[in-house]
Amino acid sequence: MHLPIQNISFDKLNSPLITDKNITLTVARLDKIHPDVSGNKLFKLHYFVEECIHTDHKTMLSFGGAYSNHLVATAYLCKEKNLKAIGIVRGEQPKVLSHTLLKCKEYGMQLKFVSRKMYADTADDNFMQDLKRAFGNFTLVPEGGFALNGARGASLIQNIIAQENASHICTCVGTATTLAGLLMSNKPEQTIVAIPAIKNMTDINDRIALLTGNTKSKELEIFANYHFGGYARYNNELIQFMNDFYRAYNIPTDFIYTAKMMYAVMDQIKKNYFKPSSGIVCLHTGGLQGNLSLPVGTLIF
Ligand SMILES: *Cc1c(COP(=O)(O)O)cnc(C)c1O
Repeated sequence: MHLPIQNISFDKLNSPLITDKNITLTVARLDKIHPDVSGNKLFKLHYFVEECIHTDHKTMLSFGGAYSNHLVATAYLCKEKNLKAIGIVRGEQPKVLSHTLLKCKEYGMQLKFVSRKMYADTADDNFMQDLKRAFGNFTLVPEGGFALNGARGASLIQNIIAQENASHICTCVGTATTLAGLLMSNKPEQTIVAIPAIKNMTDINDRIALLTGNTKSKELEIFANYHFGGYARYNNELIQFMNDFYRAYNIPTDFIYTAKMMYAVMDQIKKNYFKPSSGIVCLHTGGLQGNLSLPVGTLIF
């Protein structure tokens, strides 16, 4: 493993809401692996890094927007492994770089901004040829690690949480690569609970099939209605929840992914979705650096 995983803790939530239902709820703190880098991203990148360190070019190239947790994770791992990192960023270069992109640069990533139109065409052969001419050979990592290698990397998370013997493993969903990885390595009696951070994400099963070659819909539960209006949308209720959750359990969440997951799980506990004696493990995938885009003072942590 290329990851500082010794920092991960398993925080059991103690509250009457949970104990009265005779269930357990544990948060697997992948966010503790690194303050700036989403835990699940590091896992998704594992096999790409493995591949890249055995090449001559020792260069990774990937894609993302100005707030991409994936680009920061790529930049960080490349720095750790002495690999060259190139980030292709969606949109024209802004006058002031986002905190996310500044972090990428701090880790030594070379950034190249491309128009949204060009970015939409990253699968285009000409675009790839241009990138090859500009940067030479590289290990290509699709946006969000959305590839078999990304899912294989995410499946390693199962080893980390195996001792928890979860009946349910909950994760938030962006590209569904992490979810696909969990479904590659779950035990048949384990349900994987997916909470999309995106509105109307109707292609989750197709994405899983594309990444892993099969769907295991029997072992998958999707709670589709906790996106709070869509990707990166939030309202007072969500912010209040994040602050209350932090006060009660001392666990910070991010407003794009993990807060929506925890909100969903707590709500479904109230609604008795989880049977007595369920052992729920929620993956805290990180993403905390994204909270920096909220107005100062919004959160108490
Ligand atoms: C990227 C990200 C996700 C989504 O992971 P996918 O594998 O793309 O579904 C979830 N949580 C956090 C914190 C992330 O940064």
